[in-house]
Amino acid sequence: MKIGFIGVGNMGGPMCRNIIRNTNHQVVVHDLDPAAVARCTALGATAAESIAGLRGCEVVFTSLPIPEIVERVIAGPGGLAETAAPGTVVIDLSTNSPETAQAMAAALAARGVAMLEAPVSGGTVKAEEGTIAIMVGGDEAVFEAQRPLFASFTANAFHVGAVGMGSVAKLINNMLAFCNMAAAAEGLMMGAAAGIDLRKLADVVSVSSGASGAFGSIAAKAMAGAFQPGFALDLAHKDLRLAVQLADRTGVPGMVAPNVLNLLRAARGMGLGGDDVTGMIRVYERMLGREVRQ
Ligand code: NAD
Repeated sequence: MKIGFIGVGNMGGPMCRNIIRNTNHQVVVHDLDPAAVARCTALGATAAESIAGLRGCEVVFTSLPIPEIVERVIAGPGGLAETAAPGTVVIDLSTNSPETAQAMAAALAARGVAMLEAPVSGGTVKAEEGTIAIMVGGDEAVFEAQRPLFASFTANAFHVGAVGMGSVAKLINNMLAFCNMAAAAEGLMMGAAAGIDLRKLADVVSVSSGASGAFGSIAAKAMAGAFQPGFALDLAHKDLRLAVQLADRTGVPGMVAPNVLNLLRAARGMGLGGDDVTGMIRVYERMLGREVRQ
């Protein structure tokens, strides 16, 4: 097959490269960042200067930062809804609101193009090792037809319902992850302020009832002071904003998530949006003039 890939950054890049490595498909990539494109063409992909350059691809993936860009790339002038041939399948790996996913699917359906929304979870490490979780919303028969392609870059693709349900699953998952992480940040700062050996605290919590993947991740990065982005805080803010909107739309009271959204707002206001999401702990550090390092 001929496969298109738009957006080969932190997440799209490793998934695209796994498709190149694990299949005989011809892969065409498009990204605004020449360095990101080069990391794929080095493995045998060809580069397209524009979205129109992906015409002829049977499947086109998108992995783009924010819903506004997904909307532009799919439904904007010169976007996929204009350029993709009828019969193409678009698989959007970005994190969007359910409404954005549904609107994009409708724009493409008007052209005879099917769309699967397929937000991912697990970060760059799992994207690289081929174990990233994918929550697919869309026509089940279309998903089944693309199962071998999904299997070429992950062992963990799940069909969760119609278009919109992939986003619902993803936003709830990330809400849980960031709320766990914020609680971990608060706990680590309490530990630092109380004077406990933070490594001993992390060792015991990691095998106790307070353990979580988010705790392990923020504890390691905070102690090392290593906040270079694997998952940018700006993107976490976007995800939690969309999750809070979902709670609003469904009438579910927000006792926890809106407070964590405020923590991420404060972090962005302090200029930390480009850091890794674990940099949320630096809001506590700046407020208290004390660092969580060991
Ligand atoms: P990223 O910024 O690293 O990658 C996005 C890529 O899209 C960049 O290379 C950028 O140059 C390219 N791009 C931007 N606008 C474009 C346009 N108009 N046309 C073509 N290319 C364009 O972001 P990422 O971390 O890879 O995130 C991608 C999506 O995956 C986001 O929706 C994010 O929320 C989601 N996600 C990320 C992670 C993570 O750990 N990074 C985890 C799960 C989900």
